[in-house]
Amino acid sequence: MYLPKAIAGLRDATLAMLYPTACRVCGAMIESWRDGVACAKCWEEVQQTRWPEDFCTKCGLPLQPLPSQVQIEKRRCGRCDEMAFNYARACGPYEGALRESVLWLKTHPQISQRMRELLIATFFASPELQASESIIPVPLHPGRLAERTFNQAEIIAYALSSASGLRVDTASLARVKKTEMHRAGMGARERARTLEKAFHLRAPRLIENRVVLVVDDVMTTSRTAQEIAQTLIKGGASVVNVLTLARAVSMLVQ
Ligand SMILES: [Zn+2]
Ligand SMILES: [Zn+2]
Repeated sequence: MYLPKAIAGLRDATLAMLYPTACRVCGAMIESWRDGVACAKCWEEVQQTRWPEDFCTKCGLPLQPLPSQVQIEKRRCGRCDEMAFNYARACGPYEGALRESVLWLKTHPQISQRMRELLIATFFASPELQASESIIPVPLHPGRLAERTFNQAEIIAYALSSASGLRVDTASLARVKKTEMHRAGMGARERARTLEKAFHLRAPRLIENRVVLVVDDVMTTSRTAQEIAQTLIKGGASVVNVLTLARAVSMLVQ
């Protein structure tokens, strides 16, 4: 909804007075509703800590910066070579305002204006992502959907769809296995096993020979992206790309 700036400012001041909200990252007062659950300063930090120059050109994983005299045009992390997706990107690391926005979205079907702008900017910064022909939000198992009442990946998909004009496809892919929530300390092999055959392609004709963009809130390991990409490629998709709000990065790869 468009509001002249002065009226929007007045609305924000009134709402802040009625419902004062503290930034979930630093505790300061949030002055504008467009910032969602974090204050403007914490959002600026997200923008300043956007991915460093050095990252894997396929999966977007940040890599240790190279000495300035060394230049490699297409660096790869060495972990994603076997992955069935073509290209994965996130709006930034899973920390600060991005982390809090992802956590909020799990219980509230809302995406702040600030988060939306960052998502759209990340999409339009990449010709690979722009080549996508439809958006598939990572599906929830029907049992989990009933508990949660909404799928946060769909909220992200529709936000991106309204800016890009791409169709959201919720029909093609189903989650047929109610996987355990990934617990801290769960080994990579265990995570991979819980995701095996977790997805089923219901409507292959919607993805046949298409470039598909899979959308989710956070990429932790790449296992979910890999399982979905494999399912879609086997079903006839020509290319699978991935876009998430955030990427969990525990360490930089050499
Ligand atoms: Zn803050
Ligand atoms: Zn990689």
